[in-house]
Amino acid sequence: APTIGVLALQGDVREHIRALELAGAGATPVRRQRELDAVDALVIPGGESTTMWKLATTFELLEPLRLRIKDGMPAYGSCAGMIMLADRIEDGIEGQQTIGGIDMVVRRNAFGRQVDSFEEDLDFAGRGRMRAVFIRAPWVESVGPDVEVLGRTHGQPGDRIVAVRQGPLLATSFHPELTGDARVHSYFVEMVREL
Ligand code: GLN
Repeated sequence: APTIGVLALQGDVREHIRALELAGAGATPVRRQRELDAVDALVIPGGESTTMWKLATTFELLEPLRLRIKDGMPAYGSCAGMIMLADRIEDGIEGQQTIGGIDMVVRRNAFGRQVDSFEEDLDFAGRGRMRAVFIRAPWVESVGPDVEVLGRTHGQPGDRIVAVRQGPLLATSFHPELTGDARVHSYFVEMVREL
């Protein structure tokens, strides 16, 4: 079985480990390069992308993460993790960098300017409706031609892209790790097994 890591610099790491276990996969925290080297796939949790970027730099993980992603390692980012997987961001702090990998522009705190947090039922990847929890969430402003849109919001505050996939990379603006519904994590585990 593939080993899935959860980037454990900052954010809701334990919730992702639990959700991966619910989806039938083993999960292990990743803080060091040798731990990154040992996993087949990686989840980047929700939290705060500016802090995650700074800690990844301090722990000398930013370049190793970029190399693994370039190498085709499957990865899934929720919320701050989505920001980390974006090739380009809007409303980042001065100098803020990402790992990148998904050809998209993500706007930080985009929903958060209007409502700090909200929930909405939305369809994910044609797998039926699920409860999506948004907390100072980003939205996807635009995507390149190789990016598949897997989910959108339709209620307030409007029609926005909130779930995407590009090859082995998956990202959601919302937090499926907080709802006890393991369908997004199951989707990712299936991706990892197929690749
Ligand atoms: N606003 C956070 C950021 O910019 C993301 C919020 C979250 O992960 N819940 O990183």
